[in-house]
Amino acid sequence: MYTSVSAILQNVPNLYIFKDEPMSRHTTFRIGGPCSLLLDAHSSDAAVQAINILNRFGLTPFILGKGSNLLVSDTGYDGIVLKLSCNKIEVRGNKIFAESGAALSAVANTAQKKGLSGFEFAHGIPGSVGGAVVMNAGAYGGEISQVLTTSTYVSETGVFSISLPEHNFGYRKSFYKNNPRLLVLSAEFTLSPGNPDEIAAKMRDLAERRREKQPLEFPSAGSVFKRPEGHFAGALIEQCGLKGYRIGGAEVSEKHAGFIINRENATAKDVRLLVEHIQKTVNRETGINLECEICFI
Ligand SMILES: Cc1cc2nc3c(=O)[nH]c(=O)nc-3n(C[C@H](O)[C@H](O)[C@H](O)COP(=O)(O)OP(=O)(O)OC[C@H]3O[C@@H](n4cnc5c(N)ncnc54)[C@H](O)[C@@H]3O)c2cc1C
Repeated sequence: MYTSVSAILQNVPNLYIFKDEPMSRHTTFRIGGPCSLLLDAHSSDAAVQAINILNRFGLTPFILGKGSNLLVSDTGYDGIVLKLSCNKIEVRGNKIFAESGAALSAVANTAQKKGLSGFEFAHGIPGSVGGAVVMNAGAYGGEISQVLTTSTYVSETGVFSISLPEHNFGYRKSFYKNNPRLLVLSAEFTLSPGNPDEIAAKMRDLAERRREKQPLEFPSAGSVFKRPEGHFAGALIEQCGLKGYRIGGAEVSEKHAGFIINRENATAKDVRLLVEHIQKTVNRETGINLECEICFI
């Protein structure tokens, strides 16, 4: 099946095909076994054509951005992964149009240079525009839902645009999160005029705060758990004495207990066992359930 679909996909311009590609190369955790086929789309057209061809074969790919919120199993993914590497960014007045594979940092840098404020919060989030729209990524009081005006997606039936209210954004929730078969192609953000030096200073300040508080020197997928209402996951985990707790190569970060780091050749199994241990311990000690923010494949 994959051989015949690959033969057709090979003719799609700007689509690169990899067989048995280790997912550890495509996740910030640096963990994950091989997927059967990885399709790397370097243009929106390539992504749309790939989806159309896969549809004809009755195949649905897993959609990958920068892999910064993912834990992929050690045995890998028995299926097709479609990675978005299309990364055009255009500025039109106070609006920024970005393709889904554009890095959030690149969008933030473009906004800063053009004197557009409102995207500073996303500068240090190591995700793509597509992944950030799906996750409604946010930090330091900012959130994608505050700046996004429209997004475009491709489904089995065509390419569509939706406006802000249709995204049903909530805390790390969106219309797309509930519809994982839809592929976000691009997003448009509306920002406010600002002073480029002040915007740059804000981005530097946030980067400094991240470096101080987060274990950026180790591979991770950021905060593992969602913030339970009225609490902080990291504070609860620390309160339960779990900072530094280790299973195999996975460790609760000493710097920020909400992060699990790949300390030393961690496997997905190590991380999963550690997640379960944290959830059980926090529930036993505090009665609070920690829900995962990271996605598992
Ligand atoms: C050091 C570190 C710090 C972090 N800090 C923050 C933070 O401050 N705030 C925050 O919110 N997050 C943070 N994260 C988590 C992560 O960066 C965000 O969730 C980010 O938005 C994920 O984007 P991605 O492109 O990496 O998505 P991926 O991890 O590749 O995918 C995440 C989900 O989105 C789906 N997806 C990705 N792209 C598309 C697309 N184009 N169309 C449809 N579905 C898609 C995937 O199928 C998957 O379900 C951090 C992570 C790390 C490693």
